Parts: sequence; C-alpha cells; structure tokens
Amino acid sequence: TRPLLEIKNLNVDYGLGDEAVHAVRDVNLTIHRGEVVGLAGESGSGKSTLAYGITRLLPPPGVVSGGSVTYHPPSGDPYDVLALSHSELRKFRWAETSIVFQGAMNSLNPVHKIDVQMMDAIKAHEPKLSKSARLDRAKEMLRLVGIAEDRLEAYPHQLSGGMRQRVMIGMALALEPQLVIMDEPTTALDVVMQRQILGQLVELRERLGFSVLFITHDLSLLVEFSDRIAIMYGGRIVEEAPSAELYRDPLHPYSNGLLRSFPALRGARRELAGIPGSPPDLRGMPSGCAFHPRCPKRFEPCDKEIPVLGKPDDHVGAARSVACWLHPVTAG
Ligand code: ATP
Ligand code: MG
Repeated sequence: TRPLLEIKNLNVDYGLGDEAVHAVRDVNLTIHRGEVVGLAGESGSGKSTLAYGITRLLPPPGVVSGGSVTYHPPSGDPYDVLALSHSELRKFRWAETSIVFQGAMNSLNPVHKIDVQMMDAIKAHEPKLSKSARLDRAKEMLRLVGIAEDRLEAYPHQLSGGMRQRVMIGMALALEPQLVIMDEPTTALDVVMQRQILGQLVELRERLGFSVLFITHDLSLLVEFSDRIAIMYGGRIVEEAPSAELYRDPLHPYSNGLLRSFPALRGARRELAGIPGSPPDLRGMPSGCAFHPRCPKRFEPCDKEIPVLGKPDDHVGAARSVACWLHPVTAG
C-alpha cells in the first residue's frame, strides 16, 4: 500500500532553550492509504502534541523543532506539510485532513443551528455544490454518525456533549478528507457509542477510502478496529505493530502493561496491571529507556542508553518495530 503521510524524526517542544519541554521525540510513523492507525499511551505521553504538530496546529509555545511530515496527495508530487505557506496550509487542512480534537464539541458556534454550520463547512470546501446537495450531504453525514435528521434544526446547546462530538465527526467526514485524525473524539460518549462510532468509521473508510489516525487511552478499541497500533511513552514511539500481532505478542513491557489495563466495560478505568508508578516528568527524564524505572523486565543496559525504534533481530521479517533492550535492533 502507498504511504499517505510519512512522519520522520519529528520533534516538538513547548518553549525554548532551557525552559523547553521536549514533548515529542524523534517520532517516525507512516500512515498508509486507507489504513486505520491507532495511537495509544498514558496521559502526557505526547499523543495530542504529535497530532497538533503534524497538522501545524500547535498552540504556543509549541514548536516543531525538527523532522519532516511528507504528504502524498492522491495526484501530484509529495510535499512537506511543515514547509507549507499559510495559504497552502489552509487548503491542506480543508481538503486533505480533517481533525476532531479533544473537546472539539465545544468549537461549534453556539448561535447557529447545526444545519447552517454543516452546510457552511461543506460550502467552504466545495463552493460549487448546490444548496440542496449540501443539505443532502449534511443529512447523510449525520445519519452516519447516528444522529436523527431532525437534529439539523437544533442549536448546539440543545444537544448532549456526545451528540455535539458526533456532529463534529460528521462535519469532518462531510469534507471527504484523505486523512481523518481523531484525538479521543469519543471520551464524552459511553463505551457502546465509542465502539459504534469507530466501527462506523472503519466501515466508511472501506467505502470512501480515507485513512484514520485514532488517538485514545483505550487500547481495546484499537485492537478491535485499527490495522496498526503505535504506542507512545515519554514522547517517543516505543512499539509499532499490526494490531493482531501487538495483541498476541506485545514486545515492549509497556505495551504489555497497557494491554493488561483494558478499561472495564463499565466503571472506572483500571490501573496499569503490574506496572506501578506514573509516567515520567518530561523535564527530568530518566536516563536510558524512559520506561526503565517502572519496567518489570529491566536489566543492565536499560538505564544507560536509549534503545532505538527498529525492526528487532528476533522478529526479522515481521512488519513491526520496538524500542527495547530485550529486543535489540542491529539492521537499519
Ligand atoms: P492525554 O492522554 O492526557 O491527552 P497526551 O498524550 O495527549 O495526553 P500531550 O497533551 O501531547 O499528551 O502532552 C505531552 C506533554 O506536553 C505533557 O507533559 C504536557 O504537560 C506537555 N504540554 C502539553 N501542552 C503544553 C503546553 N501548552 N505548554 C507546556 N507543556 C505542554
Ligand atoms: Mg491528548
């Protein structure tokens, strides 16, 4: 499959110089056409920062301090998103990527009805579409995200948080993007609804052919619905593998811990089973592998050198990578 977005050695800082918090560190990740990639990791691991960084929506004092994000359009030459001018960037955001960020439901305009907002968004994207065609598209998208047509006439405050979030998802899809980035779009929804939306998205992906980057704490959702999963810890991707392989045989002890901490179907999220402690402070990272202080399998090299992410020698031929001294990487 062809790549859609290639993230290479991406680094993102908040602030400058000694004050800088290095929130994303040397991230390499490729999203292929039509692929659903899941990104998981505890709070503060840098998932949102990565998503903001690749779409250049970082809030100040966030800056991309290194790397490239190569986008391969359906036709034409690939280009680096990080090098686009502001006007090119605006076009890129509308035409190529749609983003539903954490708390996106609060970005609906309170003074306009849902139909007006959806039709405006569609019009900005496809000015030639007739009004009735835009209305049809808006209705179809709402139906896809499970909202009754009559809700088009509602104002945002008349909808629940979960419904507003689903409107945002419908609006994102209405623009027929190549890549949909969802940053925990479903936290406001119950578990049943989360599964339903991600399931619908995967189905639509097959029909419409877009790719998805889905960010969540809930690894069980990703195992079920994504093609590949990347796990972040302390700003780095520590493991990346096809979902089934990650589930069957997690190589990084952190991935293993996350997998064993599936949130219960009902009730509070469970603690990370067998992994005591909390995520590292980005201002004072542990030496070597950032996970070593919490790792049940740490041994001699772990606090000395940072393991690089790569295809491990003990899994040659597998389409997966890991950054862990238990699975050393020698080639490339
Ligand atoms: P969550 O699961 O809670 O959404 P996350 O994985 O998305 O977490 P980020 O929000 O990307 O994590 O944050 C990564 C790190 O960057 C955190 O340590 C956070 O404190 C820091 N950070 C985020 N935003 C800022 C900011 N505006 N200024 C300074 N530091 C920030
Ligand atoms: Mg986040």
